[in-house]
Amino acid sequence: MMQMAQHFLLSAASRALKLKDIYQAGENRAYETFCKLRWPETDGEAVCPHCGCCDAYFLKSRRRYKCAACRQQFSVTSGTILHSRKLSFTDLLAAMCILAKAAKGVSSLQLARELGIHAKSAWVLAHKLREAIGAEARDIKLDDEVAIDGCYVGGSIPDRNLKANRVDRRLKRYQTGKRRVVIAIREGKERTITTVAKNEAEGVEFAKARLLPGTIVNADEASQWDMLNALFPTERINHSEAYSLNGVHTNFVESYFSRLRRMVGGQHHWVSPQHLHQYAAHAAWLEDHRRSTNGALAGRILRNALASPVSRTFSGRWQKAA
Ligand SMILES: [Zn+2]
Repeated sequence: MMQMAQHFLLSAASRALKLKDIYQAGENRAYETFCKLRWPETDGEAVCPHCGCCDAYFLKSRRRYKCAACRQQFSVTSGTILHSRKLSFTDLLAAMCILAKAAKGVSSLQLARELGIHAKSAWVLAHKLREAIGAEARDIKLDDEVAIDGCYVGGSIPDRNLKANRVDRRLKRYQTGKRRVVIAIREGKERTITTVAKNEAEGVEFAKARLLPGTIVNADEASQWDMLNALFPTERINHSEAYSLNGVHTNFVESYFSRLRRMVGGQHHWVSPQHLHQYAAHAAWLEDHRRSTNGALAGRILRNALASPVSRTFSGRWQKAA
């Protein structure tokens, strides 16, 4: 017997959440899921986003509410990153399910094909969902033992076919100016924070801003990390001697970078410097929650999306890059 009291995304079936489950459950169940996660404190009963009043008329045919106190209308996605949504609730849940399942991320073209929606809608939706995912780690500060490192992404010209035409793409004159470094700080295998910079040295400022005093920092011997010695108890590992010695290593940051490289190289092929921070945050989130079930991850994306305000970068539907 179906347990109606149990929440759709939290039910045992969500361990192996499938797109089929979402579409079979249908639009009403999907809508119910949105309401329960938007308004958890009232178990899905509408709360006016304008004035906080809990008394609202439901305009059933349009799935909109009218507040009894301030008379303004709103919907379950008003004021969230999914406001002005054009997709059905089932399609939105399906997109979250696809994003949750894809260990290396998913390109917006693939998302468009799977959902049968326009490529531009898929692109905007994927970016909004990534923004919501990234919000989870945006303000956290780490205080235990961490490792820091940087990973350069993009910016070199494509390799040439003929050997005679090939150049050393590491040289500055063959760079496009779009090369960036993703700096990651990871506490154990559970909490990863990331930022995008033009060079690794900027990672010192990042560490200063996001690590509490007394945090033990593991870093390699590269000179840009020397500044850390004065700020934190710092352990250095010389990678030309060993990757891990006496418990000092940056291996967990390295596993994050391999996921990021697989994501950028394998799925997206090219990412603009402007959006790189979102891919970096998405890969970090996947890496930290790698043991969670698909259903739990999809639920987390939905919860984050409904808790995130309207996107400043991607408001409305399609816009020229802001
Ligand atoms: Zn109101």
